[in-house]
Amino acid sequence: MVTVDDGEIARAWEFLESHILAWRAEWKVGMLEHARIVRDTALFLGRMYPVREEIDLGIVELGAILHDVGRCRAKRTVEHGIASGAMIREARFPEAVARIGERHMGVGIDRLEARRLGLPDQDFLPQTVEERIVCYADNLLCYLPDESRHELQDTAAAIGRFTAELGEEYGRRTGAFMLGVEQEIGPEGMGRFRQYVVHVNGEFLRKSEGEKMKKCIFCDIADGKGEVTLVYEDDHCVAFHDINPQAPTHILVIPRVHLDSLSAIDAGPHGLANHLLTAVGRIADQLGLASDGYRTVINTGPNGGQTVFHLHVHLLGGRAMHWPPG
Ligand code: AMP
Ligand code: ZN
Repeated sequence: MVTVDDGEIARAWEFLESHILAWRAEWKVGMLEHARIVRDTALFLGRMYPVREEIDLGIVELGAILHDVGRCRAKRTVEHGIASGAMIREARFPEAVARIGERHMGVGIDRLEARRLGLPDQDFLPQTVEERIVCYADNLLCYLPDESRHELQDTAAAIGRFTAELGEEYGRRTGAFMLGVEQEIGPEGMGRFRQYVVHVNGEFLRKSEGEKMKKCIFCDIADGKGEVTLVYEDDHCVAFHDINPQAPTHILVIPRVHLDSLSAIDAGPHGLANHLLTAVGRIADQLGLASDGYRTVINTGPNGGQTVFHLHVHLLGGRAMHWPPG
């Protein structure tokens, strides 16, 4: 067993993130999420093995975190495993982790296929139990772009995917590999693993539903689907007349991105507050409110009297306002 402490795990995450940021910053969220799910899945599988004391879970964890790091650098997708292996070695993580990177693609690449693909003349087949666990977990995980969420699928789905992509023979090899792992784990462990999969998929679904729910009436307006006429729009915000005006002119200015309230502004794009307030000033000008003056209000949360939970700035003008506000 190789000793892997928390410091080494933290170093692996930092290593992954710094390489993504240096090479493919736009992949950051997706790649970290992928690594996190493969890590969780692989560790769960490792714990289901009847011989679990012989399995080096530290190596499984490092391998799951780093298996795809080479995607940042690889020119061709089929080379990313080899690139992962090289990067993991350069960074002086254990050799067993580098091999996980090298051998995790699909259910591995045999020598003949490696030659055909112009890869080094050797095979890249997962061998140790740690290599096979990460490979198995990686093959179950799918990203569903239409639903913007991940899903852990089953062996049949993995076979189907690889058959479609790489042909019947590779599909058969996929089946043999996946079944091999399942037999080692045995019916009891696989039973528990399947329950885990149902639970995790439920969480993915809930999370994506939650994100869809966040789409609100003001999101629709910002998307141009509302029944209102926009008095102003730019890349980051739109403005329209309040349906229940509290002054001769009552405009709402909202960011295009959904943020529940001002309290969430930090989660928005950099400089959004600046942009929003600059737009308010421009709109006031455009509507001829600037010389007499106007009032801007942002209601936040229950005490603030907020009723629509998509950040908005009220712009009120055309009459003298009172103070203090109610
Ligand atoms: P607040 O109380 O600060 O959350 O303000 C919400 C404002 O949104 C109220 O002034 C409402 O009159 C206004 N409002 C709600 N629905 C619509 C809509 N469909 N179109 C225009 N204004 C709306
Ligand atoms: Zn919204």
